[in-house]
Amino acid sequence: MSRRKKIYEGKAKILFEGPEPGTLIQYFKDDTTAFDATKKAILEGKGVVNNQISGFIMQNLNAIGVPTHYIKTMNMREQLVREVEIIPLEVICRNVAAGSISKRLGIEEGTPLPRSIVEFCYKNDALHDPMVAEEHITAFNWASTQEIDDIMALTLRVNDYLFGLFGGVGIKLIDFKIEFGRLYEGDMVRTVIADEISPDSCRLWDMQTNEKLDKDRFRRDLGNVTEAYVEVARRLGILKQAAGGESMH
Ligand code: ADP
Ligand code: MG
Repeated sequence: MSRRKKIYEGKAKILFEGPEPGTLIQYFKDDTTAFDATKKAILEGKGVVNNQISGFIMQNLNAIGVPTHYIKTMNMREQLVREVEIIPLEVICRNVAAGSISKRLGIEEGTPLPRSIVEFCYKNDALHDPMVAEEHITAFNWASTQEIDDIMALTLRVNDYLFGLFGGVGIKLIDFKIEFGRLYEGDMVRTVIADEISPDSCRLWDMQTNEKLDKDRFRRDLGNVTEAYVEVARRLGILKQAAGGESMH
């Protein structure tokens, strides 16, 4: 693995001390969890594919002026990122009903939403990431009103970008989850996208067949989880030979 100092080990990734102050190495594990880590598995090669997909997307976001923590990909499983202070929110953006919104509001999965809907959850595993309103976020000082404005605007830009990116390769972007952090640069603070954007954090359905190409394959025991992620990478044209794995079709 690595000789670097471990800063944090999460469910799907490990953060190591980076080569320079203010940087971290994000290591993508094969570990996969769902339902607050009550369901677990190791999916061989998943980390490699997610590192590629997330790196590709973050790099493109940087290029279109959506700031992210991403600096560069180091190797098959590691990327160099800027260390940020994570804002304790999971920001969900939905285009089509699926998962918890379908349950909560009784909307059949697959129903297009009247417009893109952004939801905030408090990032706290012990509390099962409960949904919260802006009222809670500002009252408890998780983020300022200005930061919420920035998060909203950036989330919608990410949605537009991802919707087009995946749409172009025959994939429907149903929803996704992103995290934000505070990047301190001297006496300036910027809100940037952190963590990852991958089939672990998006719902992606094949445009023609509605076949799921995301973590719901794991949650719902549909099988071929890594194969589906590899298929997403293949369609995006970013599959490195060494990632291995057969194409799904
Ligand atoms: P978790 O089990 O907490 O979701 P992950 O396995 O997703 O953890 O590992 C990534 C962790 O690191 C997350 O908690 C995420 O908020 C945090 N993180 C992601 N990017 C950064 C960054 N650039 N700086 C600091 N922390 C980060
Ligand atoms: Mg995580």
